[in-house]
Amino acid sequence: MRIAIIADVHSNLEALETVLRHAEGENALGQVWCLGDIVGYGPDPAACMALLRRFDLRCVPGNHDHAAIGLLPTDDFNRDAAAAAHWTADQLSPEERSYLESLPHIVQEGDFTLVHGTLRWPIWEYLYSPDVALAHLQRQQTPFGLVGHTHVPMLVVEDEKAKEGCRMYYPEDGTAVKLDDGRLIINPGGVGQPRDGDPRASYAVYDSDARTVTLHRLEYDIAATQKKMEAAALPRWLIYRLSIGQ
Ligand code: ZN
Repeated sequence: MRIAIIADVHSNLEALETVLRHAEGENALGQVWCLGDIVGYGPDPAACMALLRRFDLRCVPGNHDHAAIGLLPTDDFNRDAAAAAHWTADQLSPEERSYLESLPHIVQEGDFTLVHGTLRWPIWEYLYSPDVALAHLQRQQTPFGLVGHTHVPMLVVEDEKAKEGCRMYYPEDGTAVKLDDGRLIINPGGVGQPRDGDPRASYAVYDSDARTVTLHRLEYDIAATQKKMEAAALPRWLIYRLSIGQ
């Protein structure tokens, strides 16, 4: 079975459509695993939710999903993120709000554990450094973990011989991670707002027969998303950052 692994869609319908079309391209897609932040920042929260929910979806919530439904105060958000969260809140129907509210913070699927941030603080913590990766791995009950939140594609390999207890890699487009005995954490990068300096949408495909997780980067119609954001009067920096992948 082939499964699309996505994170941080952020209401970017053009990026999400491009990713799902690519994932469906070669063979039928079994499931979609979403690591949170479907909404926030972008112009199409409801349409992104509707598109994702047409698939056999496994999904955890992110901080922006929680902010949009009032489960998380926006005090800790920067001004632009808070403005987008309030705009997003007005776009969601009661049914869409209760869907986001119903999502479990951690989901286990076979050999994988899905969470937005880390298993220590599922909604908020960024997995950037080896010490945070180790705190996450201590709580990971499956061989493989999937996280989002940083919007940066990353691979962590647990390695007791390494000085810091694990090794961190930043995989490029087309990298296939072979799943074997080692314990891993994978971040597929951000679909709707990449932040590694590459503006292309980022996601991964898990092939359960080949036992690989392959990273993909895809160009999408950034200008179309930006036009919609301008029409919605969303903050200028949020519009511009899509062009530079930050
Ligand atoms: Zn995010």
